[in-house]
Amino acid sequence: MARYTQAVCRLCRREALKLYLKGERCYTPKCSMEKRAVPPGQHGQTRKKETPYGVQMREKQKVKRVYGVLERQFRRYFTIASKSKGVTGETLLQLLERRLDNVVYRLGFAASRSDARQMVLHGHIRVNDRRVNIPSYLVREGESIAVSPRSREKARFKQLVEAVASRTAPPWLSVDADDLRGSVLRLPVREDIDLTVQEHLIVELYSK
Ligand code: SF4
Repeated sequence: MARYTQAVCRLCRREALKLYLKGERCYTPKCSMEKRAVPPGQHGQTRKKETPYGVQMREKQKVKRVYGVLERQFRRYFTIASKSKGVTGETLLQLLERRLDNVVYRLGFAASRSDARQMVLHGHIRVNDRRVNIPSYLVREGESIAVSPRSREKARFKQLVEAVASRTAPPWLSVDADDLRGSVLRLPVREDIDLTVQEHLIVELYSK
């Protein structure tokens, strides 16, 4: 699967927003946005006038980068959202939020979405007690998501219990830290998604 492999802190600097792509480091003074919050590149500090198209583009890039999704897949989510009932922008965010790698991150099993993606790809995650190694798998209401019993024996996952207990899961998920297991109480709504983005601008961009 294609994915972005360059320095991810550049992406935060480009979007002028902390996207929390590096796990623990994002919460320390080592974060590049704390040290040097200017766009990357030689002309990063040059002031540029944003066009309406540019603003829409930035909003789209922001969301893609937060969830670690590339253009083609993002388009596919948009197509599904635009054909669904409800507000397209909100449905788009809901689809992204339901991705298994995102849910593993939200439950606190991984420090970042890219770590969560690795965990899923390496077969450490079970959905309804069956191994699922597809990061884009969309969770459904009532499903349970757990670290596999074999993985739980490993030192890395034993330490995880404390980390999970110290984090708060969003209201649409519940988590049992001791069992390294979570469940989907309901599908997420816009208010559950802590993302500073104007999703209607993405809809406008793709509707041209
Ligand atoms: Fe972004 Fe995290 Fe890098 Fe800070 S440390 S710039 S929040 S990825």
